[in-house]
Amino acid sequence: MSARRWIATLASTALIAGLSTAAAHAGDGAIPPWAHCGTEASGSGSEGFVDHAQLTSALKQLEASTGGLVDVEVAGYSQQGRAIHTARVGEGDKVVYVQTQIHGNEMHGTEAALELLKRWGSDSPAAQELRKNVTVVVVPRLNADGGELDRRQNDMSWGEVVADFPQLADASPAWNYNARVGGFDVNRDFNPNLDYVPAAADFPGSSADTGWYITPEAQTSRDVYRSLEREFGTVDFFVDLHNQWSCYATDDMESMSPLSISAKFIDDPAAFGDWPKFDMVASKRANVAVYQALQEQGDSSFGDLTLYPQSTNLPGTALGSYQLRGSAAILFETSSQTQYDGMKRNGMLTQMVETGLGGLVDAVADGSVDSLDAGVYDSIPERVTLPSDGPGV
Ligand SMILES: [Zn+2]
Repeated sequence: MSARRWIATLASTALIAGLSTAAAHAGDGAIPPWAHCGTEASGSGSEGFVDHAQLTSALKQLEASTGGLVDVEVAGYSQQGRAIHTARVGEGDKVVYVQTQIHGNEMHGTEAALELLKRWGSDSPAAQELRKNVTVVVVPRLNADGGELDRRQNDMSWGEVVADFPQLADASPAWNYNARVGGFDVNRDFNPNLDYVPAAADFPGSSADTGWYITPEAQTSRDVYRSLEREFGTVDFFVDLHNQWSCYATDDMESMSPLSISAKFIDDPAAFGDWPKFDMVASKRANVAVYQALQEQGDSSFGDLTLYPQSTNLPGTALGSYQLRGSAAILFETSSQTQYDGMKRNGMLTQMVETGLGGLVDAVADGSVDSLDAGVYDSIPERVTLPSDGPGV
């Protein structure tokens, strides 16, 4: 259902009365539950966000202005030949790997990461202390082609996959291939076995199974992960920054939930082999660090954070595959499709990701993340869907 039709349907039901009551209680910076549900169309999707050329120059500027404290490298190339970068800061022996925009039209994480890199690379005493204790590696806009096209998928045909992997000539196209747009949902192309070689028998696959590293974007993410694993032993934390549909509420229906987070991506880790470093408690603690950083913001909608559905079973996602290998995994789902939201709201949402991710990295740097109560995670309410659901993680 479109948001517009949903609003029309709402208006004709008794539910609207309940929402109006909720509005009266939704002062204190909370966002009332019918706001920003795709009703504020405001120009083109990527308006106000950096494009590929601007992102590239922002990263170079960051490297120059921090005297190399933020080290920018090319990690790989998208299918259409755009450079995919890493930006690395700090020399601590705990590592946090942050990935943004694996879905090209999910922009807020990239903006937040640029702001945080600026902070982490600064000469403030806090930044100097942080850099001693933690290493942060950011891949901003992994799906560079999808970002440029303002769409979820990358820009690669099944024929191009077969050209790269001739053994797939007689295979059915992968289930996550969208023939209409000519691209893959890159966030289904991951496998906990980093050395997996695509085999025809494993196609078309399914959402309940692992992926293949057939896209150059997933291959680039894997190559960064593997090099960090070799350097640090374990990639301690993996953060994936996404956007979800705008129309989710808190469980009391009193306000919109501008952000959902999650530690849960796989129903049965044992179904995908023996992964002794899989650590659900560590993932929950890391999510609690994000949650607490936002709760501390007091009188604002930042506190209206919810959990992403805990029934999620997606082993072919970066989060699922890397979590099996031993990373504490943290999903951010900012409640916005950028094409519908005005710049003011986009600024607020970017700031929210910045606060949550900044809080996690602070908690890793000072070691406090290890003593957080994982039980707090289970007390965070799940998001409540207002209209029809979007495609999600
Ligand atoms: Zn996404």
